[in-house]
Order: sequence, then C-alpha cells, then structure tokens
Amino acid sequence: MTTRHAVVSGASIAGLSAAFWLRCTGWEVTVLERATEFRDGGQNVDVRGVGREVLAKMGLTEAVRAQNTTETGTVFVDASGEVLVELPSDGPDGATAELEILRGDFARTILRHLPEGVEIGYGDTIAAVQEEAERVTVTTNAGRVLHADLLVVAEGVRSTTRDLLFEGQVDRRALGITMVFGTIPRTTEDDSRWRWYTTVGGRQVHLRPDNHGTTRAILACTEAEDPTRLDQAEALARIRDRFSGVGWEARRILDGFDGSDDVYFDHLTQIRMPTWHRGRVCLAGDAAWCVTPMGGGGASLALVSGYVLAACLSDTGSGSLATGLTAYEAWMRPLVDDVQQLPRWIKPFAFPRTRQGLALRRMADKALLSPVLAPLTARFARIADTDRTLPSITATGTTR
Ligand SMILES: Cc1cc2nc3c(=O)[nH]c(=O)nc-3n(C[C@H](O)[C@H](O)[C@H](O)COP(=O)(O)OP(=O)(O)OC[C@H]3O[C@@H](n4cnc5c(N)ncnc54)[C@H](O)[C@@H]3O)c2cc1C
Repeated sequence: MTTRHAVVSGASIAGLSAAFWLRCTGWEVTVLERATEFRDGGQNVDVRGVGREVLAKMGLTEAVRAQNTTETGTVFVDASGEVLVELPSDGPDGATAELEILRGDFARTILRHLPEGVEIGYGDTIAAVQEEAERVTVTTNAGRVLHADLLVVAEGVRSTTRDLLFEGQVDRRALGITMVFGTIPRTTEDDSRWRWYTTVGGRQVHLRPDNHGTTRAILACTEAEDPTRLDQAEALARIRDRFSGVGWEARRILDGFDGSDDVYFDHLTQIRMPTWHRGRVCLAGDAAWCVTPMGGGGASLALVSGYVLAACLSDTGSGSLATGLTAYEAWMRPLVDDVQQLPRWIKPFAFPRTRQGLALRRMADKALLSPVLAPLTARFARIADTDRTLPSITATGTTR
C-alpha cells in the first residue's frame, strides 16, 4: 500500500493531535503553522470525559498530570474577596478538573511526543487549495506546493482556510461576551484556588494560580463589539472603561495586562457548520465547531478529534476516504452538539446586570450547590462524556 500524505494546517491542540494519530497510523504528515515558532500562551484547559481515554492512549496522562496548574479548587467570592460558595472539585470532572493544564503546556507536550517523521513548517500558511478526485494540492504563502491525500484544517475559530473552502456554510454565533485572558505577577495574597468574582453590569473577574510562579487572570463581560478587530492597546483601553469601579482585584489585573506580552482576547463565537468535510478536506477542533468557554471542553474535543479522525481513516484502508470522513463526523457530532446547546438562561445567570439579578444569582448558587441539587449541577461539568466506545485504531510500527 502506498503511504498516504496529510497536510494539517494549525499546530495547536487539534492539529497536533491529528498529526500525532495520523502519523501513528502510517500517514506522512506535514503541519503548517502561521506563527513563526511554537505558539505558547493561553490559560487553563482541561482534559475531560473521553479526552482522558485519548490522552491515556497517547501515553501522556502522567506528562499532563506533572504539569498540573496546582489549582486546588474553585470558589465564588464577593467584592472583598470573602468566599461565598465553594464549588465541588472532587472527582475527575469537578469545576477544577483532575487534569488541568495551561494551553501552551498542553500543546507543547503533544508536540514533544509526536512520532518521528512529522514535519512542521512554522511561519507558513495556505494560499490556495486545488481539489481533485485523486488528490488535494496545497500551495503555501512561502511558495511550497504540497500534493496530499487529505487536508486537515485545524486553524482555530477564525480559520481563514475554512472560510475559503466552506464559504457560505460557516454559521458564526457571537454570544455577546468578551473574555480577556492574561498572565500577571503573583502576590503573596494569591491562593491556590480559582477565585471567581461576579458583579453587576455583566462583569466577572477571575484569578487562578499556575505552575509557573505567576497568576492567570480573566476579565469577562457582556459586550456586543468584537475586540479582536481592534489593536490591543485600543481593546485594553475599552476593557479598562468597562471594568472601571468594579472593585476586588480588577485594577491590579488591568495594570498587569498593560505590561504583559501574554494577553489573549476572545469574543466568544460558536462555529456551527452543516458538514465538517468535503472531498479530501476536513475540519477539526475550533475551526469546525468552536464551543467557546461558555460551553467548555474545547481542548478535550480538539484532542479527541485527532484520534477519531485517524481511527476512522485507518479503518478505511480499502474503503473510501469519504466513508472514513463521514464516520469521523458522525462520531464527533453528538459530543459537540451536547456543549453547543446552551440554555437561554445561562448568559443572564452568568452575567447578571442589576443588583437584584446579582442577589438572585447568589441565592441560586447556594441552592444549586446544596446536597439536593449538586448532582444535577455536576451534569454541567460532564463534557466530552459518552457511553460510546472510541473507534479502534490500527497503528503501524511508526515509532515515537
Ligand atoms: C495562543 C492561544 C491562546 C489561547 N488561550 C486560551 C485561553 O486562555 N482560554 C481558552 O479557553 N482558550 C484559549 N485558546 C483557545 C483554545 O486553545 C482552543 O479553544 C481549543 O484548545 C481548541 O484548539 P484548536 O487547536 O482547535 O484551536 P487553537 O488552539 O485556536 O489553535 C489554532 C492554531 O492554528 C494556527 N493558525 C491560525 N490560523 C492559521 C492559518 N491560516 N494557517 C496556519 N495556522 C493557523 C494558530 O496560530 C494556532 O496555533 C487559545 C488559543 C491560542 C492559539
């Protein structure tokens, strides 16, 4: 059998997982990444549900555990930092998950454990794609021409190759929420828990410990305008206005973000598409189905997608690529649908606007975490959860 060749665009969690598993099943793999070097940065992501199984199959559970963010639990606090409620963090799927790791550490771990032979081209992106029955030809902006059997687009929520190839099929649902993630210096008052402050005007302030001696901060608010369209200084100035007078640690975070080179803006946008593949092209991770942090589990789904894709294609040695891609999509879709269907009340609940709304929210928090309702509430943390068995994979002798 001739070796099949895959081009993967995007070297974060979805792209690296696809590269890992396609290579393990005997494909030649070329990864293209827009950034000029490995892209670090980002905050806590967690490995949940069937993601834990995939991680174990990769032999990476202990490597991820060793880089745990050190977070010991999650608490809701008031404006003075007093703890109002403590969320359950026992078991693998607590608010602070058992396998909690920074995005950059996670992506680097997969990168370092890629099987031999995966080529990564940094600082290069796809300029054109020519699709034919027998192959797909990718021309890059650096002038490379790559003939492949499969193109995997794993470029994240704002994927340009997806937009080029699936024009008219990308349903972007902005949730009207902005989140700003950044790293700030740690102080002696910072503790080992995720501290989460919700206040009026649809605003939240978060502080989380990390395993690098710094503190990860998040400012989240309801906001119609997409800050990712602005330059960073302008976007930060608007956030400063939006969070003026909020209290607790907001000012410290804003000052910290001003001097930080690791600030990441997101205007939460779900991506929904009628199909994730066509011909010899398929989508994976946020490029296909961004679930946003409101749904949760984006990293787990991205990780799982690489395995499921390679497994479905390894099964089709004599079958068609289309059969494998259809099976991939059929396996992934229920997991994605589960987190994309947000209840209507979730946004006003998470981001109360008025004092009355905030008071109601605080009462509801206590009720939802009571012993009676806690099992129901725990359902929200069960992400990428399924009773279905992962498709089996036929690995070749490719070494790691
Ligand atoms: C730097 C960074 C920081 C992040 N921080 C957070 C965070 O703090 N909290 C959170 O919830 N989520 C964060 N995310 C998003 C999170 O990683 C994803 O939601 C999730 O893990 C799914 O991963 P993905 O691989 O599908 O997409 P992503 O992680 O978004 O990765 C997409 C990759 O494709 C590359 N890329 C983009 N366009 C092109 C192109 N045209 N050609 C080639 N490569 C391209 C990007 O540089 C990136 O490496 C971050 C992502 C990145 C890239």
